[in-house]
Amino acid sequence: MNIFMSHLVAEMGQDQTKQQIEKGLKLYQSNQTEKALDVWTKVLEKTSDPGGKFRVLGCLITAHSEMGKYKQMLKYALAQIDTAREMEDPDYLTEGYLNLARSNEKLCDYQKTVSYCKTCLDMQGTTVSLQLNGQVCLSMGNAFLGLSVFQKALESYEKALRYAHNNDDKMLECRVCCSLGNFYVHLKDYEKALFFPCKAAELVNDYGKGWSLKYRAMSQYHMSVAYRKLDRLPDAMECCEESMKIALQHGDRPLQALCLLNFADIHRCRKDADKAFPRYESAMCIMTEIGNRLGQAQIYLGVAKCWLLQKDLDKAQESLHRAEELAEELGNKLCTLKVCCLSEGMFRSRGQGEQLRQQVVKLLQCVEELELYCGMCGESIGERDQQLQALPCSHIFHLKCLQTNGTRGCPKCRQSSMKPGFV
Ligand SMILES: [Zn+2]
Ligand SMILES: [Zn+2]
Repeated sequence: MNIFMSHLVAEMGQDQTKQQIEKGLKLYQSNQTEKALDVWTKVLEKTSDPGGKFRVLGCLITAHSEMGKYKQMLKYALAQIDTAREMEDPDYLTEGYLNLARSNEKLCDYQKTVSYCKTCLDMQGTTVSLQLNGQVCLSMGNAFLGLSVFQKALESYEKALRYAHNNDDKMLECRVCCSLGNFYVHLKDYEKALFFPCKAAELVNDYGKGWSLKYRAMSQYHMSVAYRKLDRLPDAMECCEESMKIALQHGDRPLQALCLLNFADIHRCRKDADKAFPRYESAMCIMTEIGNRLGQAQIYLGVAKCWLLQKDLDKAQESLHRAEELAEELGNKLCTLKVCCLSEGMFRSRGQGEQLRQQVVKLLQCVEELELYCGMCGESIGERDQQLQALPCSHIFHLKCLQTNGTRGCPKCRQSSMKPGFV
């Protein structure tokens, strides 16, 4: 009788935990975030069921990620790993490490992200955790992109896409497409930079009836950036407005910051510095609040370009200096390269010979480290808008060079297959 009773009590604890988690989810989905957080925090304090504790931590991680509260997200991810260790369950442990990787990705700690992703991939879980591998690869791709390691980023995205296809996971496919859009913006293949987020938007239209609106908002944002780069500013404005509307409705601070930065850049492209500056400023407030240091570096770059438009070289130089500091702190070599390019032009126009020489040396160093050249013609990649194509080994070439030269293997790594990959 006693054993039966205590079993019953434990079961009730489990059921109640489950019920309360569901209650929180309903509140969260109807945009009552604070109430949902209250419910979940209470569950976390009171539950005796480790599985329930793990799950409620997962809810808290997602919610804090969406609000841009990345330090709290990291705290809950660490608690998840402790719980998974107590349970000695490799599937839970993998999920915990994935969340730890994601928290570090959001906090722009890219080296740590890569190493936690590797931990996930090395873990010998069951099929349950194997299904997480696609998400692990996506996070790893984002981290490599943050470190400007382009070939490895592309390799990771391609793997993530393959997992998405094999598991028929349209949400993952949608997220990878957005990341690929971002990837090609960096390498200045603007046709692909638009193609992938359009594909993401298509997935949202075809399959996304029950999805969170943030997927739509995300694809619209990435389309907007590509349109801006293609100088289709009215289209860029329209997509960015749509994205911002959703971001505001959902209290999605990280996306609001990205949209504000993009609005500022659109105004800068229209040579309207008066409208650009306050938007950069608002973007900076949120980026600082959430801890997106790469976003901050990008704002400083935009602000510097605006000052250059205004011909205020001192202020431009100050802003470039801030961007450079952040880029070096994060290990984002592409941002360092962009600072070098802008500084070089500025020192040249000012006739500051010594500083100019220093910048040229630095610039050449950056280009070499980034390996941004086409293995066929030897010329640079990512300097201007050009169509690119990757081989299955993820080495990247000019599309026209692959089409005209038609070799039997990759000239960079000699891998033989020439069949173009997904991306
Ligand atoms: Zn080439
Ligand atoms: Zn290769």
